[in-house]
Amino acid sequence: MAHMRKPALIAAVLLLLLLALLGAASCGKGQDDADAGDPTPSGVEESTPPPPVDTFPDVRPSIPSETPPPPPVYPGPEVKLVPYDGVVEHLFFHEIIAFPELAFDGRYGQAGYDENMVTVSEYNRMLESIYAKGFILVDMNDVWSEYTNDDGVQRMKKNTLMLPEGKKPLILSFDDISFYEYMRGDGFMEKLIIGDDGEIWASGFDPRGNPIVSQDYTAVTVLDRFVRENPDFSLGGVKGCIALTGYEGILGYRTQAESSNDTPEFRLNRMQEIARARPVVQRLKETGWYFATHSYGHINLERVSFEGVMNDAHRWLEEVGSLVGPTQLFIYPFGTRLDGGDVYETGPAFKAYHELGFRIFASVGYEPFSRIKPDIAAVVCDRMHADGGTMRRESERYQKFYDSAEVFDMLRPRL
Ligand SMILES: [Zn+2]
Repeated sequence: MAHMRKPALIAAVLLLLLLALLGAASCGKGQDDADAGDPTPSGVEESTPPPPVDTFPDVRPSIPSETPPPPPVYPGPEVKLVPYDGVVEHLFFHEIIAFPELAFDGRYGQAGYDENMVTVSEYNRMLESIYAKGFILVDMNDVWSEYTNDDGVQRMKKNTLMLPEGKKPLILSFDDISFYEYMRGDGFMEKLIIGDDGEIWASGFDPRGNPIVSQDYTAVTVLDRFVRENPDFSLGGVKGCIALTGYEGILGYRTQAESSNDTPEFRLNRMQEIARARPVVQRLKETGWYFATHSYGHINLERVSFEGVMNDAHRWLEEVGSLVGPTQLFIYPFGTRLDGGDVYETGPAFKAYHELGFRIFASVGYEPFSRIKPDIAAVVCDRMHADGGTMRRESERYQKFYDSAEVFDMLRPRL
């Protein structure tokens, strides 16, 4: 789509040569930093010599021609659709724990993983249960829309969804799909990649340290497979919202700029990471995934100044928005709200985010709360959290999705 013009292409080649020369000249200093970002061993994917020019930013590497055709989208014409105006549930996850024996090995971090995440076996059982209870995945962007009211001003309204009879709508969102540095070696996969078949896979290491490429161990790839096997779990192929920060890049790629490390090596590595992330983003979007901001720095919106919040917003747009495209979705980090409260007030930071195009602002709560704001075209809503904390302490509330006792992974620590 974004074909580079000839002069730009020549400029990119010259820039590459220059960067390579500078990199060779300054070998030794800053080398550790340049290498630290990508400890992926060879064998998982190509290692990191300068890539051919056609994998540079804005020129998308071609997806293999044997890409399978998309599966038939549910619902087909034989399925009767009925209008739905009821509650739209919203459940969110973090990245899932691929190898619980590593996450729950008694070391630092265990308590956080236990509280905030679910294991792969729990995730599989939760999806089975949610599906069995008649839920169907819908796109958060389809639940509300902006319109011009009788006074000639823009407001949001809730849409009537057209669903297969008997189905209940559910939004899924997935926070922090960054494969952060702190998670390395703790039983998580390391990045989403494009496989030889053109589909999304994940690479990482098994508990013995062997590199693996699999679709069995990440929130994204497991849900992809589940919808492939149960197409009526998804309205039109929708999967979920991926809420991204930017401070350690996205999806396992270290795409972030770092003013403290503005070396040629860092810049070259960053360009390569961006070039690798782009086709993954593209394939995710083609297969029912969509994106939200989760702030750049996972900031606490109640503690950071207005200027700080806005600098963070612009940095996200520059470094992450430039990769994932426009979004109207803001998934609050820590569930803290803009201006310290946005349900009944519309503060300066909320207005500024609205100016940037954001319309749907999601926090964390106990029920499928949502409120269309009367004074501005925006919706504030809550999401319920599928994690160890709620499995242990709030199982009743989640009974509508799954039975915590049934899905609970016995590899979790005994508290
Ligand atoms: Zn988060």
